[in-house]
Amino acid sequence: MSKFWSPAVKNLVPYVPGEQPKMANLVKLNTNENPYGPSPKVIEAIQAELNDSLRLYPDPEGESLRQTIAGYHNIKPEQVFLGNGSDEVLAHIFYALFQHGQPILFPDVTYSFYPVYCGLYNIEGKTVPLTDSFEINPEDYRQPNGGIIFPNPNAPTGCYLGLEHVETILQTNPERVVVVDEAYIDFGGETAITLVDKYPNLLVCQTLSKARSLAGLRVGFAIGNPDLIEALNRVKNSFNSYPLDRLALAGAKAAYEDHDWFRKSCEGVISERERMTRSLEGLNFEVLPSKANFVFARHKEKSGESLSRGLREQGIIVRHFNKPRISEFLRITIGTPEQNDALISGLQSCA
Ligand SMILES: *Cc1c(COP(=O)(O)O)cnc(C)c1O
Repeated sequence: MSKFWSPAVKNLVPYVPGEQPKMANLVKLNTNENPYGPSPKVIEAIQAELNDSLRLYPDPEGESLRQTIAGYHNIKPEQVFLGNGSDEVLAHIFYALFQHGQPILFPDVTYSFYPVYCGLYNIEGKTVPLTDSFEINPEDYRQPNGGIIFPNPNAPTGCYLGLEHVETILQTNPERVVVVDEAYIDFGGETAITLVDKYPNLLVCQTLSKARSLAGLRVGFAIGNPDLIEALNRVKNSFNSYPLDRLALAGAKAAYEDHDWFRKSCEGVISERERMTRSLEGLNFEVLPSKANFVFARHKEKSGESLSRGLREQGIIVRHFNKPRISEFLRITIGTPEQNDALISGLQSCA
């Protein structure tokens, strides 16, 4: 605290990212990074951009990348908004579309950045409890609100909500924007992007950090009706006209052009997720059904806290949230087969 701080800063409660320890040889399964790495074509594309053109500003609209993403999803480039990671896109969404003097709704167990953005922009948030089986019930979103946001699949639970239920939420809230945060959609879910032409109140957010293994490049985007995209552009161009640098624009485009790498990497994660689920069940864990690149699991006897500590002593890092309803769970990122074996044997020695 300092007398130089703006009043707003004194009350800010920032997001706490999963740790990025500096130690070597850790089995790092705590931040949902993709173990298979980016396509070699991404590295080539970035290397090809490493030249004198770096003295020039990048394209502020990211036209070429927006065309690639629009082509991939069969929509128009003016329906795509780019940002420096989807976290930045989400921040602009909160500012541009959620300030209607009524509380915005999100699940009680969800991505912990949502309440942080509420605090930053002074937006009231109202949590809607997940069901006892940690699922979203669309009927619970039939209430007055200033907007709705949820991840699908949800984080940190991994639970997926079928598109027919997403449609129910859209139909019961035609006067409000419904944001579907699809950070993990490529690991087995069906994207709501196919619904954006049908629902002018739908905005879908995606990232290249998870399925495309580019967390370090910082690229995310939103797709929706051009009117919603225009609102986001107004905020972006009042904040930072160049959120994506030349390397990120080139690398992201190449990532979308390498379908084979993408498909194999998602398939690898999915098959390891199924194997991990069976192994955990064999060790007396309850595992929530996951369509993400992580599983959320609780041991039937041992506490989440002690297991997380026991793993850490063996150099294995998972995420443990000391929060209501989920303090007994571990969120375990799906790693390489070797990392997953290490996790299972690590649990055998402490569970
Ligand atoms: C990882 C994640 C993001 C953020 O992704 P970035 O593009 O890396 O900022 C957004 N939403 C959810 C639910 C996530 O898990």
